[in-house]
Amino acid sequence: MHIDILTCLPKLIESPFSDSILKRAQAKGLVTVNIIDLRQYATNKHRTTDDYAFGGGAGMVMMIEPIDNCLTELKSKRTYDDIIYMSPDGQRLSQPLANELSLKKNLILLCGHYKGVDERVREHLITREISIGDYVLSGGELAAAVVADAVVRLIPGVLSDETSALSDSFQDNLIAPPVYTRPAEYKGWKVPDVLLSGHQARIEEWRHDQALERTQKRRPELLQKP
Ligand code: SAH
Repeated sequence: MHIDILTCLPKLIESPFSDSILKRAQAKGLVTVNIIDLRQYATNKHRTTDDYAFGGGAGMVMMIEPIDNCLTELKSKRTYDDIIYMSPDGQRLSQPLANELSLKKNLILLCGHYKGVDERVREHLITREISIGDYVLSGGELAAAVVADAVVRLIPGVLSDETSALSDSFQDNLIAPPVYTRPAEYKGWKVPDVLLSGHQARIEEWRHDQALERTQKRRPELLQKP
């Protein structure tokens, strides 16, 4: 998979990709993540990528020209499955959406800033809009990092134990069961006996029961989903 992230503040998004699972995924060659500074595509002498809003009002708007120039160059080199604008009014990110995106080959994530992008970018240049929740961030960079993380960890080989992503919460509409590690007893607080029994079938049954119970208690609406 190849992901291009377009931003006017590249520093804001570099660190999530330079550590842990996202770093290893790149080192293993399973994904390439390219952070692109939109200022490189600015056309004015001050290299600005934003301007005042027509009609007045507070807040700057990201201009269409640098974004279009950048997208044109990228599209001349690759065919993209989706060009995604991070936006609070976009389709809400969910596990099924992350699963769907993890099957794509080439993605662009466009980060807005200030008041967002010129509406013509949304009308003509992008194919999809994603929100990470009903709240407003100051920029799309953290949202893009959230989407990239949720998607990249699903690519086969990224997690060391491939079955691990499948047993996470929201896969199969279930919340993950509790997990424990050593010591088996701490300050008198014990790990459930079954997990120490070595009886794999019983352990799996216990985990499934716990997952069901947790889902019923915390997110009963998930059990109604098809
Ligand atoms: N004026 C806009 C918000 C702009 S926030 C509005 O009211 O809808 C600035 C940028 O942050 C947006 O362009 C978007 O890229 C990003 N952003 C803010 N909240 C987000 C969210 N919940 N999900 C995804 N991106 C978000």
